[in-house]
Amino acid sequence: MRRRLGQHFLFDPSILERIVNAAHLKPEDIVVEIGPGKGRLTRMLAERAAKVIAIEYDPILCEELLKEFSRVLRIEIHCQDVLKYPFHELPPFKVVANIPYYITTPIIFKLLHHDVPLISATLTVQKEVAERIIALPGRKDYGVLSLMVQYYTEPEIVFNIPRKAFVPPPKVDSSVIHLRRREHPPVSVANEQMLFKVIKTAFSKRRKTLANSLKPLRRDIKELLVSCGIDPVRRPETLSMDEFAKIANLLSKQRRDKDGKMSEP
Ligand code: SAM
Repeated sequence: MRRRLGQHFLFDPSILERIVNAAHLKPEDIVVEIGPGKGRLTRMLAERAAKVIAIEYDPILCEELLKEFSRVLRIEIHCQDVLKYPFHELPPFKVVANIPYYITTPIIFKLLHHDVPLISATLTVQKEVAERIIALPGRKDYGVLSLMVQYYTEPEIVFNIPRKAFVPPPKVDSSVIHLRRREHPPVSVANEQMLFKVIKTAFSKRRKTLANSLKPLRRDIKELLVSCGIDPVRRPETLSMDEFAKIANLLSKQRRDKDGKMSEP
């Protein structure tokens, strides 16, 4: 057992069944499983989908999986680090996985990349991370992860799993979350990168006022916030996605206007 690789296995068939149900699979679906481990969930997924692509990093587990599923055509085992897997080369797919917690955020951000044809992700994650993902403005756990995930998907917590359900038990409780990719973002922005930059800059100094934390973006940020109708003494965790979008749009517009003027003859 390699705790370093976040190896906590689920064997309880009723919990595995609830995870599979939460994914709303159709017989024609392509499913990616990250970290199949001992292959219990993998087998159940293959009964409900057209194909399962299972990515396992541990070479010993991987060898066992290759042996166990060598005759199951619907299951493809890939022995590699999920963070290096070329998801953008796949046709549209759903992810169902009890993921290794030490790389939860990098996995989620990789799946949300705009080149990746993700339909939905049903993930077992740390309960505290699940709460951060669904958090709304005003909550202590509202931040970059909440805004990024909610920009790309509609997240929901489906059910919780107590730590004792895993072998060996981790130090934290878990939740199964379902992320459904949005067809259209919930706010309209001229430049997504600017939106993410504003959000990250604001939360890099969470306890400071916006006038203070956003200063690296513009010297006259105070005036810009006032012109968006946002009080500059507010803290980032009180702002809705819509308000972050307003700031980003004004910053992009002023940058465009400035570039336009500079290029005039
Ligand atoms: N799916 C199994 C289950 O539910 O019993 C195992 C889940 S366990 C929490 C996480 C799995 O991810 C382990 O099998 C571990 O070896 C694998 N893993 C860890 N790091 C990985 C990585 N970078 N890429 C792919 N798999 C990884």
